[in-house]
Amino acid sequence: MRPAALGGAPAFDEQLPLIRPSLATDDDLLAGIGAVLDSGMITNGAEVRRFERLVAEFLGVPNVVAVSNATTGLLLLLRCLDLNGPVVVPSFTFIASGHAVLWNGLPVVFADSDPRTATIDPSSLPDNGFSAILATHTYGSPCAVDELSARAERAGAVLLFDAAHGFGARYPDGSQVGAKGLAEVFSLSPTKTLTTGEGGLITTADDDLARQLRVAREYGNPGNYDSVLLGLNGRMTEIAALLGNSALPRFPGWLEQRHSLVERYVKSLADVPGLSFQEIPAGAVSSYKDFTVRVGSDFGLTRDELAACLRAERISTRPYFDPPLHRQSVYADVPTGPLPGTEELSRTMITLPLSTHLAAAAVDRVCDTIARVHEHSAAIAQTLRRTE
Ligand SMILES: *Cc1c(COP(=O)(O)O)cnc(C)c1O
Repeated sequence: MRPAALGGAPAFDEQLPLIRPSLATDDDLLAGIGAVLDSGMITNGAEVRRFERLVAEFLGVPNVVAVSNATTGLLLLLRCLDLNGPVVVPSFTFIASGHAVLWNGLPVVFADSDPRTATIDPSSLPDNGFSAILATHTYGSPCAVDELSARAERAGAVLLFDAAHGFGARYPDGSQVGAKGLAEVFSLSPTKTLTTGEGGLITTADDDLARQLRVAREYGNPGNYDSVLLGLNGRMTEIAALLGNSALPRFPGWLEQRHSLVERYVKSLADVPGLSFQEIPAGAVSSYKDFTVRVGSDFGLTRDELAACLRAERISTRPYFDPPLHRQSVYADVPTGPLPGTEELSRTMITLPLSTHLAAAAVDRVCDTIARVHEHSAAIAQTLRRTE
């Protein structure tokens, strides 16, 4: 069979989406929605309290603060910490990690990422001159937490995690992502491993910080309308919390399913020349928010050429994260030295379809298609590069 890029029939009759949200729809959930609507309490009420309690138990952390989304969570967290110096962020991350810093009026310092792990490279951080590190558990794989802690301590800075991808991941010591640093912020948007439609969670062992965050998500109003900090409306709705409460008991099964699909991908793709995988730190467990593959030169086509081939096959992919933050227009004024790891990652990484309910047969077909594209890479390269 010829690849679609050479005129063959597409591998899929219908577009294969990159991600489908994991949702639990059953009669209990629908009855719960009815009960919330009847109660007249439709935001930041009993369901949100229950969700915070259940997540705290699930993650083994003392405090969970539910918010309307992770971007708001990051904004409020940085605001509550009252930082007075630059914040180190990897350039290889999603837009929101950097935006939260700029919205707080703080300078951003971009760090490089390790091309093997795709997480922030601790050795690329300056020795001092920053007030916080905000590191991302890229694709759901935990950052090098011990090295980052040591660097933060030496600089007198706080260590924070953008854990948007990390729900369900574990650090090498077995603790859940959510339990390290001064605070971690999860996203519950539809592409994440646990979703409530829109939503976010801040976890922290610091009781005072948790108290402050609860005030911050209510405009900074402690209850007497004398606002004590520049907060926002960051409340989670009751329906969102209900979705979370009904999803949580199913989450371990979903995670297992994700891992088995990733294993299937890795087994099939390991033999394709030029493809390699994100290294997960020894002993750690990734949540596999994304399954992302590196396209090396032995593949015979660039990452973008492979993406074009897969588009023709009706297979959705994303170049997460290209462009990286330091090459985006909003960040044009941030002084940045060379970031070779970031450049390599943003040029070579491709995210393949993965969701809890993705059929194993679909994974097999994606892998077969990629292998076939590789086999025809010389002819495809000729065609693509001629028409450019
Ligand atoms: C999705 C995402 C966010 C933003 O989450 P929202 O809940 O959509 O605000 C932040 N950081 C990273 C790394 C993300 O992937």
